[in-house]
Amino acid sequence: MLDMHVHLLGHNDREANRENIRAFLDEASRRGLKEIGFADHDYYWDQMNFPLIREVAKDYPNLAVRIGLEAEYRPHEEGRIKHLLEQFSFDFVIGSVHEFDDWIFDMPEAEPLHHEKEADEFYGRYFEVVTLAAKSGLFTTIGHFDLIKLFGVRPKKDILTLAEKALTAVAEQGLVLEINTNGRYKPVQEFYPERRLVEEISRRGIDFTFGSDAHCANVVGRDIEEASQILREIGVPSVVGFESMKKVRYPLD
Ligand SMILES: [Zn+2]
Ligand SMILES: [Zn+2]
Repeated sequence: MLDMHVHLLGHNDREANRENIRAFLDEASRRGLKEIGFADHDYYWDQMNFPLIREVAKDYPNLAVRIGLEAEYRPHEEGRIKHLLEQFSFDFVIGSVHEFDDWIFDMPEAEPLHHEKEADEFYGRYFEVVTLAAKSGLFTTIGHFDLIKLFGVRPKKDILTLAEKALTAVAEQGLVLEINTNGRYKPVQEFYPERRLVEEISRRGIDFTFGSDAHCANVVGRDIEEASQILREIGVPSVVGFESMKKVRYPLD
């Protein structure tokens, strides 16, 4: 299988050196992955070392090692992201929304506001920004599609209604959505996106990929086998990785 969302630099608490790259690739090999995609947060740009990743990858002929980026999407910063993407020929680019209206909503300190605010309202705003990300033309992938649920606060409105426009934009742009297993380790304790969304994504013919969102080497590939099983159950025939911004398809057999 594949894991197209790992953070070599963690939360900028680790260097992009040979030893650390090896630790990620060794774990991917140990778990039998066919493809791994590095996608560090764009704000650690100056700490990244893509040539070294390419060099170390030569020692792993059975593992496709891809280089991507997890870009922080803010609607007024499309030019900034575009500029970064011109600096390197990435294999894939994840567009992620972790904040909107100056609210970084996924930090532990943000939790009380999730309980105080009107969930329908902030879910609505979140998916509006995700829709803009999908329409921006900058990304191959939208990260953790329903991240806004991370503290377990649910909207009253139907999630399919709230996510409708974002799903339409993702489908129209041919973007890929990940089953991101990291949600299980957040208060919500489930993968992103939730099962009903996964079924709707499949129904619309949108392609899936997998991501552990590992911020350290020992959780590379975590729960990806279980995520594969969910997709098999609902009849998804294949998932995709990326090379040079093009989809690489893997059957789910
Ligand atoms: Zn993220
Ligand atoms: Zn991430």
